[in-house]
Amino acid sequence: MARSLNLGMPRIGPRREMKRAIEGYWAGTIDGAALAETARLTRARGWREQAQAGIEDIPSNDFTLYDQVLDTTCLVGAIPPRFGLEGDVVDANSYFSLARGRTEAGRVVAPLEMTKWFDTNYHYLVPELGPGTEFALSSTKPVDEFREALGLGYVTRPVLVGPVTYLLLSKATVPGFSPLELLPTLLPVYTEVLRRLAAAGASWVQLDEPCLGTDLDADARDAFTLAYRTLAAEPSPKLLLATYFSGLGDNLELAVSLPVAGLHVDLVRDPAQLLTLVDRLDPESVLSAGVIDGRNVWRSDLRRSIEFLGPAHERLGDRLWVSPSCSLQHVPHDLSSESELGQLRGWLAFARQKLDETATIARALVEGLSAVADALEASDSAVDSRSRSPLIHCAGVGRRVRALSPADAIRHSPYEKRRDIQRHALALPLLPTTTIGSFPQTPEIRAARARHATGKLSDDGYRQFCENEIAHVIAQQELLGLDVLVHGEPERNDMVQYFGERLDGFACTESGWVQSYGTRYVRPPILYGDVARPAPITVSWARYAQSLTASPVKGMLTGPVTILQWSFVRDDQPRSESCRQIALAVRDEVTDLEAAGIRIIQVDEPALREGLPLRHGERAAYLAWSTECFKVATAAVADGTQIHTHMCYAEFGDIMDAVVALDVDVISIEAARSQMDIVNDLAAVDYRSDVGLGVYDIHSPTVPSEDEITHFIEQALKVLPPDRLWVNPDCGLKTRRDEEVAAALSNMVAAARRARLSVHRTSSVTV
Ligand code: GLN
Ligand code: ZN
Repeated sequence: MARSLNLGMPRIGPRREMKRAIEGYWAGTIDGAALAETARLTRARGWREQAQAGIEDIPSNDFTLYDQVLDTTCLVGAIPPRFGLEGDVVDANSYFSLARGRTEAGRVVAPLEMTKWFDTNYHYLVPELGPGTEFALSSTKPVDEFREALGLGYVTRPVLVGPVTYLLLSKATVPGFSPLELLPTLLPVYTEVLRRLAAAGASWVQLDEPCLGTDLDADARDAFTLAYRTLAAEPSPKLLLATYFSGLGDNLELAVSLPVAGLHVDLVRDPAQLLTLVDRLDPESVLSAGVIDGRNVWRSDLRRSIEFLGPAHERLGDRLWVSPSCSLQHVPHDLSSESELGQLRGWLAFARQKLDETATIARALVEGLSAVADALEASDSAVDSRSRSPLIHCAGVGRRVRALSPADAIRHSPYEKRRDIQRHALALPLLPTTTIGSFPQTPEIRAARARHATGKLSDDGYRQFCENEIAHVIAQQELLGLDVLVHGEPERNDMVQYFGERLDGFACTESGWVQSYGTRYVRPPILYGDVARPAPITVSWARYAQSLTASPVKGMLTGPVTILQWSFVRDDQPRSESCRQIALAVRDEVTDLEAAGIRIIQVDEPALREGLPLRHGERAAYLAWSTECFKVATAAVADGTQIHTHMCYAEFGDIMDAVVALDVDVISIEAARSQMDIVNDLAAVDYRSDVGLGVYDIHSPTVPSEDEITHFIEQALKVLPPDRLWVNPDCGLKTRRDEEVAAALSNMVAAARRARLSVHRTSSVTV
């Protein structure tokens, strides 16, 4: 029997039940018991849905209240000492304080850093490990959830983040320390967890080691060998080692040499590895073939998948399992919640539909095509109608992309010349203050948007509402004394979805939510066809904001790479092609903003780093087309128009050359949450343009004091000259409350003014 297996379910609830419960708990409107109950119902529903779809091998401990890496940190007791919790079993409040920070007795406890999980838009909380870190089993979550499922009649396969990936994803607290050195003391905790899971009745445990799909040095390879030899030496459940997001590549021999009972591989990202694996797999081991795309929303071509797996099934028989490529946490829950997608709907599959597809393929392998005839016929006709649909192709778009020339991606003059023109024209003070774009998305704004969406508020009424918000935000910024203002983005539900709703070729879902971090969920648009901009999108808001003030207002756009990266994209053409189409649409918007008198335009690319291929060998090609797209989007403006970009929450150190190649006039970048690491990266590449360093973390409700911000500015001034530094928060303010923002920005402006004075006193810099 080919078994059907699932690696993980969405854990936010089909109607975002977990968001409401967790945020309610934070706000004190529900208690811990009510939160636990919602979590329990969410897990139970997931197990039931998988069983009903015919999935034979169902996971547990794939659920989390915030993040699976944070769960692992709590499991192994690696709580940084500043939280004052060492060694204890972590309760819910402490758990959330690791993610959100906290203030106690006048002391601010900084949260764990947050960064992207491989090449996804999911963020994990970065473990902090040092030579003094001591591990101790500190949570019973995997065992509790296994027992809970058992109580409902499901014998599940608990999922853990594997020990090597856990260490490789962590951050050393001491320069030069390699967290891999901690492997020998980490492994006993894993052994103990496995022992307890076995005692509870688990026969399989899944260890997620996506790092096996990345380039590994000799230490990391040795760590894999040591880890799995050690874990296999103890009597424990069978281990399913799961890799995803990339092929095994040159780690294939290493992977098949590890003494585990099963290997899961991502055959969507790397189908070619299947035959080698079939040859090289240990004769006792199971291969879980990830053929259903866990990262995208397209319905699979079932016939093709069955044919593709056929030869492997002949060789492996019941040692071949069928699965999605990775956890389904990266796709929305259920297509049946969507009623407005028209013909597109027939081409899509969300998590629940992907479970059905997985079970269907497994069944076809065992019982033959005739056993799944209806499903096959439906799949064939979806494939056929999508490939021939006139909704997808628009001849003019392709022509415009082909007509692009290298000159379209180059500003008229080099940076130094532009800088002089812009300094003269904008006449900003030293250390100009600004924000990243969004102001708080208050309950009133969300309510107005909802009333507009349901027709209870007219178009005019909604426009008036947004204009009032803009006027309020402009007045607030003038009062605070900020130098470069923003309109506050009240009209945007989300920085990508907003553009997706207004560009041809994109569709938006009603409830296609996926988790971005914690309780922040996004609804990625679905890019299904050729992209074009039927009309200007942001121009009237920017023009209105600029009409209210003599200070410069920044126009705010989302960049082409980020729109691509945060959408579900076409799988019928290369990503680079889709990105060029988006770049041309953004270019039109940039040109129109400039024509409307906007002198500063920020094109956000927070996802540039996240799209970086996991394998070094593929990176140059990606960086070439992605930077080219950004430049196509921004290069059409006159020298005097200042182009900004913004990036955040990722490790930018390894793409600094591409950051330089964007040739922007100003980059604003998150720095406070990641302790200013970026400053050293910028110094290392001798960055020429102006830099806005994030001087406070916007994820935390804690208001930064003037002194803390001053400290950040002083740190930055050790590396950057004062005439190139801007002062801004780490990121947009949409998730914060009005009072927090007013207090934080007031301290920020005060700190910038103080720093200006001390620069003027201690140096002879003039601008
Ligand atoms: N301009 C956006 C905002 O301020 C940028 C958000 C982001 O970087 N994720 O909200
Ligand atoms: Zn940001």
